Amino acid sequence: MPPLAIRLHGVRKTYGALVAVDGLDLVVPEGTCVGLLGPNGAGKSTTMRMLTAQAIPDAGEIEVLGHRLPGQSKSARALMGVVPQLDKLDTTLTVEQNLVVFTHLYRIRRTERRAAVERALGIANLADRRDTRVDKLSGGMRRRLLIARALVHRPRLVLMDEPTVGLDPQVRQEIWALIDALRSEGVSILMSTHYIEEAERLADTVTVMSHGRAVAAGVPDVLIAEHCGAEAVEVYGPPARLAEVEAGAQAIGLRTRRTGTSVALLRLQDATGPVPPGERRPANLEDVFVLLTGEEIT
Ligand code: ADP
Repeated sequence: MPPLAIRLHGVRKTYGALVAVDGLDLVVPEGTCVGLLGPNGAGKSTTMRMLTAQAIPDAGEIEVLGHRLPGQSKSARALMGVVPQLDKLDTTLTVEQNLVVFTHLYRIRRTERRAAVERALGIANLADRRDTRVDKLSGGMRRRLLIARALVHRPRLVLMDEPTVGLDPQVRQEIWALIDALRSEGVSILMSTHYIEEAERLADTVTVMSHGRAVAAGVPDVLIAEHCGAEAVEVYGPPARLAEVEAGAQAIGLRTRRTGTSVALLRLQDATGPVPPGERRPANLEDVFVLLTGEEIT
């Protein structure tokens, strides 16, 4: 087993009577990208906050790059970069000035600061914007700057909380390319997302969270085969027809997934009778997500 960049075992976090994280097990092998998938309220952000020791677990073990949290959070924090969901960039400063501030926060030696800033500007493709004030940047550039800022001290592990939320598809692609580049440098990444496509595109393994727990973890293709089978049958029709197909499919042991205009029949290998006719398509990670979390993708 490769060394682990992150290991959570039995982690629990409550807020009063509310259990936000409920016995979570999660691993990020070094050099891999793990996608933390889950619907709103599943506990993804709380998990991220525990990894930066902004939230302290009530129970369980957390280890980051060999450092136990929360006790050794300072040493762990020095080795990781954090891309927060909320953009708290100083808008009165330029791109370059924002990065310089972080070289100080991360105690990068004076003689190395210049090179660290240039490197981060290069990775995020922002060199020609170095003198632009943050309030003049587009949404995509701001997000790239947030990522660049997390990289000035060459972290071995990067945490990203919903890295492309609210960005249009083209800008999302730019961010994906950036994350790919990081991964190819051997940086370990834990990324929370509720975009299935993002996880499919970037993550080596995904952990699906629901109600504070990991309900599945593994390589996307393996999870798909395990939970949904190779193929799904998609049946289209008016609502009454869909309800009928759904009931019939469930009666022969299939799992079903409803969308607005269709019902998808899953786990065809379980069928104890003839499968209704429909459009065959490969099962996908979205099917797994819906099956395990009971949530439709919004
Ligand atoms: P996600 O990021 O998957 O949407 P969160 O970790 O934000 O989920 O939230 C998990 C649950 O914990 C939710 O029910 C949320 O309302 C609750 N929660 C999160 N942070 C707090 C907090 N600081 N105080 C009280 N409840 C919280």
